[in-house]
Amino acid sequence: MSVRKPRYCLQCDDGTELKLKIQDMTVQANGITRVVPEVAGWHCPQCGEVEFVDQDGSERHMAAMNAVWEEASAGESGSLRAIRKKLGLKQAEAGRLFGGGVSAFSDYERGKTQPHKSTVLLLKLLDRHPDLLKELAPALVRV
Ligand SMILES: [Zn+2]
Repeated sequence: MSVRKPRYCLQCDDGTELKLKIQDMTVQANGITRVVPEVAGWHCPQCGEVEFVDQDGSERHMAAMNAVWEEASAGESGSLRAIRKKLGLKQAEAGRLFGGGVSAFSDYERGKTQPHKSTVLLLKLLDRHPDLLKELAPALVRV
């Protein structure tokens, strides 16, 4: 048995010691969660950070992250469409109003491109307060 030097979590940066073990990991994004079983590595008991010790663990972790991001962005593009429809905007109108051009929303909603974060935030605000649309674009409000 070799004696290992302790390793500290760079994420926590407060002297939290990493533990070398095999442990299930949870990856999440936008409320979507996936468990990566039995990942070998130096795990942080505080923040869940890990330094992988083998290729297998890091590859499975990466694959789970990608799957979660894909699922999260699919959900996002679905909700963009729902919000746009709720506001009574055609794709081309939304593209002119929020920027990006007439085909921007068609691309977002098919997951071809990602909207800028500010566009997503603005749409989420309008989802909660649809009456604000008339402040932004009085000519587009039909109801
Ligand atoms: Zn940590």
